[in-house]
Amino acid sequence: SKPPVKWRRVLLKVSGEALAGDEEQNIDPKVTMAIAREVAAVTRLGIEVAIVVGGGNIFRGSTWAGCSGLDRSSADYIGMLATVMNAIFLQATMESIGIPTRVQTAFRMSEVAEPYIRRRAIRHLEKGRVVIFAAGTGNPFFTTDTAAALRCAEINAEVVLKATNVDGVFDDDPKRNPNARLHESLTYQEVTSKDLSVMDMTAITLCQENNIPGLLFSTTLSQTFKPHEETYTSSIFFFW
Ligand code: UDP
Repeated sequence: SKPPVKWRRVLLKVSGEALAGDEEQNIDPKVTMAIAREVAAVTRLGIEVAIVVGGGNIFRGSTWAGCSGLDRSSADYIGMLATVMNAIFLQATMESIGIPTRVQTAFRMSEVAEPYIRRRAIRHLEKGRVVIFAAGTGNPFFTTDTAAALRCAEINAEVVLKATNVDGVFDDDPKRNPNARLHESLTYQEVTSKDLSVMDMTAITLCQENNIPGLLFSTTLSQTFKPHEETYTSSIFFFW
């Protein structure tokens, strides 16, 4: 029998920067493999995993908007296309180690991936497949953090897990203040009022309105899921 776990269905947000690792290339295959193994370990616990993938390692709309006549919406569409590239790479890596994975895009690219169909995504998850949501929300002016909150609410996942490359959220800049303390938990209220860049405002609001907790972690994902454990080292839990 499977050990008891805290969550049955989770939404993992993988940012573009995370995929880039320390390599000069946009994607570090060591990173995609590490993520795939982590996700495999989690699914083995019987947890359903959906992933929203970012695109910042390839293209960020806000950086390019205004360049050579590129308006913000067009730039954002390029950004969304970048997330599809990451999604396909991640899918290939996961399938190479035997994790059945489907990519669903927020706008149609049917030769490349399935279109986003909510009930179908849920069916995939129930069958033990990992679903990667690509192309963000499908709308310019949004981010993949917001897509993560949105898809989490739509598929009734219990938590947004956000992998970061930082140790956590400090009450002050740890580089300047050696006494800066690591927050163990934060309410969404605190996240918004202190302007802590945990997730962007739209994403935070969406989580808050739908009572979706978030977990920010820098340790490995499978450690986060240690059965019976109520506290998570090197990670921060935030809630509504
Ligand atoms: N994007 C968008 N709408 C969305 C999600 C993403 O327009 O719903 C675009 C936006 O230009 C963004 C880019 O896609 O800069 C990449 O996504 P994001 O910056 O969220 O990726 P991450 O920071 O997670 O790597």
